[in-house]
This record gives sequence, C-alpha cells and structure tokens, in this order.
Amino acid sequence: MYLGVHVSAAGGISRAVEEGLALGCEAIQVFTRNQRQWRPKPLRAAEARRFREAARAAGYAGRAMSHASYLINLCATVALTLRRSRWALVDEIRRCEALGIPYLCVHPGAHMGAGEEAGLALVAESLRHAIARTTRRVTVLLENTAGQGTSLGWRLEHLAALLRVPRTGVVLDTCHLFAAGYDLRTPRAYEKTMRAVEETVGLERVKAFHLNDSKAGLGSRVDRHEHIGRGGLRGTAFRRLVNDPRWATIFGVLETPKASGMDWKNLRLLRRMRTEPPAGAGRRRRRTADAEPLVRDRARPVRRRGPRGRAGREEAEHPRDLGR
Ligand SMILES: [Zn+2]
Ligand SMILES: [Zn+2]
Repeated sequence: MYLGVHVSAAGGISRAVEEGLALGCEAIQVFTRNQRQWRPKPLRAAEARRFREAARAAGYAGRAMSHASYLINLCATVALTLRRSRWALVDEIRRCEALGIPYLCVHPGAHMGAGEEAGLALVAESLRHAIARTTRRVTVLLENTAGQGTSLGWRLEHLAALLRVPRTGVVLDTCHLFAAGYDLRTPRAYEKTMRAVEETVGLERVKAFHLNDSKAGLGSRVDRHEHIGRGGLRGTAFRRLVNDPRWATIFGVLETPKASGMDWKNLRLLRRMRTEPPAGAGRRRRRTADAEPLVRDRARPVRRRGPRGRAGREEAEHPRDLGR
C-alpha cells in the first residue's frame, strides 16, 4: 500500500503538494474548498495549473484524493439543504477535474429520521445528479462511516447499494470500520472483515483507505480518530493492512489528529510496518524516509510542555479538525 497524509491547502492548494513531499508522502488527500462554507471562493486557473504540475512531478497524479465538504448531506430532508448539497457535490467534482485529482471522497449522508432505505434511494439520486453534470475523469468514492446519529454508510451493504451508480467506488476508513463493528485486530477478525468487504462492495471497487486508529471501542458507533497504535485498533491491524497483497497497488492516507509533528510520526510508523515499499515509492522515500523532515515547523516532532503539552493527545472529530 502507498502511504500518505491528509495535507493542508492553506496558502493555496499547490502548497499541499509541498507538505506531502516534506512528509515523504506517496499519496495525498486535500480539501479543495473551504469545507465549512456553502459558497467557497472559485478556484483560479493558474492555481489549478500549479497544483496539477506539482502533483505530477511529485508522483501524486494517480494517488490524490479530495475530501468533500462535511456540510454536504446527499439525503437531506430539508429541500434547500438537499439542493445546496447536490450543487456542492457538482462543484467538488469540477474542482477535482480542474486539479487533475482522480478521486473525490464523500460521506453518503444522514437520513435525519427518514429511514435507511429512503435515505439510500435519495443519496443514489443525488449521486446520479452530479455524475450526469461532470466528466469521466473523477471517481466519487463513498466513505464508510462510524454510524453516528442517522448516518448512512456504516454497514458495507449501504455502500454496495450505492455502487450501482456509475463512476463510484469506495474508500474504507479503518476507524469507522472498527466503530461500526468490523473488527481488524486479530488475523481471524481481519479476514472476516475483508471477506465482508469482498462479498458486499467487492475488492476491485475499493480505491483507497483512510488509516486512522479509533479512540472509541468496537461497535461504539462513535467517530473519534486516534494516532496509529494508540487507539482500540492497535498496531497489528495496520501491519496487516499495509502488507496485504490485495491492497498493494492502492493508497491509504492518515486523518489522525493534527498535533505538532504527529503526521510525520504516524507516517513513519506505518512505513516501518511495511515490509516492502510498492513500485515507484522508493525514489521519494529515500529522500525523506525516517530522516529529518524538510519542513521543520510543521513536520518535526516537538515535545511541548505546559498547557499545550497535551497536543499529541488531541482528538479529531472527522473531518472537521483536519484543517485546510
Ligand atoms: Zn475518513
Ligand atoms: Zn471522511
């Protein structure tokens, strides 16, 4: 598995590539618009070109993913929210087209009491609306969720039902799998979960992973990301995942809490678990793997004291706290 991080697009989206390179990423995830606003700033053509060129040079062209705004609810029961969500999804896909990003990750939605079946039907309709208005270059990846509140997508069957819409795939979040009751900790539990993936969505429709440990327990339906090896999943699950030949050609990105230096530490931990780097990952690895990071202030592990000393233990509520 190729390994990467959700990187910040603060100061222009092409800066995300720089951060990815500094951390030694083989893949990146970004927000392409302010994820807290319905009306984000338009993407300038020059900035899009800068990103495309930088991403291609860095080797991210086929291994980049955008995470859609968390305001989007593709099965909202309020008509205005549904309309806004549908057009925001179209905008998200068009941004990916302009940036040359092949994958857009989106949460299926929350049915708000309408029921799972009605919710899924509406999500499928919303996806078709967006697919019809965009080109073939971008695949919309439905993310499995922890199942908080009325969120859909915590059962793999929910995702399977939505995959009938063309140009869709799946991104599996390890924290969400665990919180939704899919265990990965022992060899047997891991295989059982992988069999469930194969029998529902199918292995070939899984295009990426979100690599997060879980603060909450198995089946808790609570979405709290934790640093690798510090949560309920523990290191063994990740060791199995990054070395699983079924996932050798796809990528996984970290969405762990953004405490100082932790992206670098988490990524290094995963890289060390991997027994063999995937094809083409060696060139950039040699330059940065386990070495001093290039961007010091963001990537270097810093031990702080005093009231901010708990930085390394902050929790992320997905995806709000990932920054931009
Ligand atoms: Zn995720
Ligand atoms: Zn997500």
